[in-house]
Amino acid sequence: MKIICVGRNYADHVKELGNSIPDEPVLFMKPKSALLQSHTPFYYPEFTNELHYECELVLRVCKNGKYIQAKHASNYYDAVTVGIDFTARDIQDELKSKGLPWEKAKAFDNSAVVGKFITLTPDFNRKSIPFSLVKNNVKVQEANSSQMIFSIDRVIENISNYFSLNIGDLIFTGTPAGVGECVVGDVMEGFIDTQSLFTVEVK
Ligand code: ZN
Repeated sequence: MKIICVGRNYADHVKELGNSIPDEPVLFMKPKSALLQSHTPFYYPEFTNELHYECELVLRVCKNGKYIQAKHASNYYDAVTVGIDFTARDIQDELKSKGLPWEKAKAFDNSAVVGKFITLTPDFNRKSIPFSLVKNNVKVQEANSSQMIFSIDRVIENISNYFSLNIGDLIFTGTPAGVGECVVGDVMEGFIDTQSLFTVEVK
């Protein structure tokens, strides 16, 4: 499996990092080794001094496909959850300033936290999915999928022009505003609506 991530998909987050609104989705990937296995602790990586959380809606791919049209995209995922795209922001800033790839900042071991999946039923409203992140009992990120610059369907269409989607792949759909630093001892809990889907502590 692979993990495909969308960058800069919420206008308020694009603004907070001083980036410009993209014309098409910004994509990057994390390898399978980036997935934090459940019941495994997350350890603060030794190569960064500025670890950021980015809470994102995550889709689970249920069908193989390539060149998927947006109007058919909903057939290609069958479950959603929230996750964290852990980012070594200091490393990313340095790489960005040199025009280098982001992998060291984004794709390191255990950098992808994925919550418990909610299997989608026909009555689930895929166009309006509210989600949030609570850090140490304070809500730090809150958004709705309807605020995405590129909708889920358009994201799937764009990804599949470049990368075949395979059953079991995960798609991180971008983070809203409110990203910030986390330190050892922080406890983060991710929600879709009022449903708690993961808790992770930084060790
Ligand atoms: Zn992200």
